Order: sequence, then C-alpha cells, then structure tokens
Amino acid sequence: MSLPKTSKAAVLVEYNKPLVVQELPIPELEPSAMLVKVDAATLCGTDYHMRHGDLAFFSKTPILLGHEYTGTVVANKGRERDANDRPIKEGDRIVWAYPWCGKCYYCTIARQPTMCPYTQMYGWGPCDIPPYLTGGLSEYMYVRPSCHVLKVADALDPHVVAATTCAFRTVIHAFERLELIGSIRSHETVVIFGCGPVGLFALATAVVHGAGQIVVMGAPAARLEVARKWGADMTIDIQTTTAEERKEIIRGLTQGRGADLAIDCAGPAAAFTEAVDIVRRAGRVLEIGASDPKPASISATNFNAKMVAVIGSLSGTIAHYHGALEFIERHKDRFDFRSMITNIYPLDKVNEALDAMERLEEIKPSIQVNA
Ligand SMILES: [Zn+2]
Ligand SMILES: [Zn+2]
Repeated sequence: MSLPKTSKAAVLVEYNKPLVVQELPIPELEPSAMLVKVDAATLCGTDYHMRHGDLAFFSKTPILLGHEYTGTVVANKGRERDANDRPIKEGDRIVWAYPWCGKCYYCTIARQPTMCPYTQMYGWGPCDIPPYLTGGLSEYMYVRPSCHVLKVADALDPHVVAATTCAFRTVIHAFERLELIGSIRSHETVVIFGCGPVGLFALATAVVHGAGQIVVMGAPAARLEVARKWGADMTIDIQTTTAEERKEIIRGLTQGRGADLAIDCAGPAAAFTEAVDIVRRAGRVLEIGASDPKPASISATNFNAKMVAVIGSLSGTIAHYHGALEFIERHKDRFDFRSMITNIYPLDKVNEALDAMERLEEIKPSIQVNA
C-alpha cells in the first residue's frame, strides 16, 4: 500500500509552552522496522513533568510526547514474528518495548536491560532527526528494528492497552523485583501510597497476588472510589488525615505492628519517608513512583535497627508488557480497567488533556489521534 508522506503530531517545541500540532516526515523503514497507525495514546504523569522541563536532564526538545501507545501495523519491512512466536503482518495490533541496545553490560552480563544507557526511549525526544515518529501523540509511529514486539488480542480496548504500556508494565516489573525481598503472602497487610494509574494497577496486582488486606492512601475522593471498587479493603484520604493519624490506623489493623509491605506509587519524597515509617519491623517497601528531586528525610537506622528492606524498579521489558496484557485479558471481569480512562481527547485538544491531568481532574486521559 502507498504510505502517507507525513504524520500529524503534537510536539513540545519549548518547555513550559503548549504542544504544537505539526506534520512530521514519515521515514524510510530500515530492515525489520515497522510503521504503525496509532490506535490510542494515553497520557502519563511523566508527560506533564516533561512539559515543564522537570526531566530536561534526560528529555530533548523538540519532543514528540507520548510513551503509552498501541497501534496497528501498516508497513512491515521484514519482521516475521512477535516475542511470543506468532507471525506478524500488516493489520495486526501491537505493543512494543523500548529498544534496549542488547550489547552493553546491563543488557548482557547484568541482564537488567531497563538500565541500558543506550536505549532510545519513545516519547522523550528529539523528533527533528530520523526516524522522527518516536512518540505516541502522532498519527503514525516508527517501530525500531531492535524493539521487541507483542501482538494484542482483538478483544482488548486500545485505550486500556495503551495504559498498560507504561503504568502497568512498570508495576509488573516491580512485583517481579519484589520477589528479591519477599513476595506478598496471604496473611499480609499491604499499604499502597497513591491512587493514580500506577497505584490502581499495583492494587489490582496485590489483589490477584492474594494479599490479606489492602489499604490505599491517596486523593482525590473519586480515585479512592475506584480503589474500593477494585478491591481495596480500606482507603484513607491524605487530604483529610496526617501521617501520624494514618500510621495509627495501620497499627490498629495490625496489632500495633505496622504494615508488612508498603508500595509507594505516589511521587513525593515524603511518601517514601512515610512508607518506611509505616511498615512493621523487618517490613518491606517497594518503590515505584518516586519522582521528587528533593531527598527524603530518613534515618539509616531504619535499615539496620528496624531491618526494613527496600527495593525499587524502573520501566519494564517485553516480558512485563506480556504480563500486563495477560493480566488485563484474564481479569477483565474482576477489574473495570476502562474506568481508569476518564476522558478521550482529539489530538488538537492535547494541551487541555495535560492541564486537566495536572489538576488531578483526570485519572488517565487518552488521546484518539486517528478517528
Ligand atoms: Zn509513564
Ligand atoms: Zn544496552
């Protein structure tokens, strides 16, 4: 089929300025590369941090934003199979992981590819050099030859699938990392800090892992309502309670000990401090959401005298995308994943979507680039 010459795309030209809808060139495909028509691109909290230049040590303008996306293959330059050994052809719906280099210390010897310093992440820029179409807020995207790819089942909602490609695969990876300090046991009390998309996916995963009781702490009330529907035994609004009051509530639930496991999906440094404080002696903390450049105020005696174990996790490989896709397919009747997608905006309304997300009026807005 003949391909278009350009793709309409929302570009962050300058930090702290609105995104600008532009036409970007559609590049020539390298062998094993693919061109995808975007079915849905959801926004992530990172996107508005990036818009403000908070991550400028890493992001490069001009940025084609959007690192949560799914699309349909419209051109395939010779890729034969997906990571699950299924044939790939034009017309297939897919997701794909960042292209880890596959050759460095982290990719090979350490086998921790999300630490690869040579990866070319999507949605972080720059988009003024080939292959240009490196973010989800675009009609078309370029799948690099080294990206691992997975086909998506026809029955899955593209907006929910897009949401799995940052938030949920990160949670799946984090739960795998948690095994290093102890997975969830059926008698345990788990406290989740944050009830945005990462917190809600962590809640769903903790429910399926069979946690004894789960408490979700966050705000605003509408998000806590979703958390209760998804199986939180208790929610605590952080806007109407103090850290000391929350600690007392958790002690009341655990014979005075504290939580067995705290999962931080919140972001502020204070949440990490509170997580370390709220777990019992020799409790565990899983750090997923930290994004605060300010240091947390915490005594190192928590880690010897109190024996708290902390583990963190970043991003995910195609194995974690696979885990996330399997999860939303298997547990679609248990969790209303679609309730997380609070609005769908056209591409030219992307700035409104980012503003609404920043004001916490949206849990996760989705951008429908192609009608
Ligand atoms: Zn993200
Ligand atoms: Zn590497």
